[in-house]
Amino acid sequence: MHRRNLFRHLAGWMAAITSVRTAQAATAFPLKKTEAEWRKLVSPNAYAVLFEHGTERAGTSPLNAEKRPGTYVCAACHLPVFDAAHKYESGTGWPSFWQHLPGAMGTSTDFKLIYPRTEYHCARCGGHHGHVFDDGPKPTGKRYCNNGVALAFVPQGQPLPALRT
Ligand SMILES: [Zn+2]
Repeated sequence: MHRRNLFRHLAGWMAAITSVRTAQAATAFPLKKTEAEWRKLVSPNAYAVLFEHGTERAGTSPLNAEKRPGTYVCAACHLPVFDAAHKYESGTGWPSFWQHLPGAMGTSTDFKLIYPRTEYHCARCGGHHGHVFDDGPKPTGKRYCNNGVALAFVPQGQPLPALRT
């Protein structure tokens, strides 16, 4: 590849990244709170994942071992996002699901590791939950690799927490 073509290629790539970031920034979510408001409601670790696109250390979430039936809600806004029936042991050290609840998550492309990955986030508050990959089990073949700290588990039979407003 000629140097000039390489430069043109890189310029196009940078423009693509910029347009994705702009699109993300422009997305409006139903629930909008300031940084100070969220920091009062969630732990520092949860804030770093949900609103600064952090990733918890693999194997650190107590939810990895959670096998009871129930519902997983967004730790920020309490929207139900996963049914425990769709959780499986992926061996990655992060709670993994092959499907989220209908309409619970939106996706965008991120370039944090240079190559593009599909990031997903709560459809209600925009909080980042994890990344989705195509190496999951049947029937969807998807692996929603979720940060445990972005979730709260509600065992079957217990009331779901009220949605935060
Ligand atoms: Zn949420």
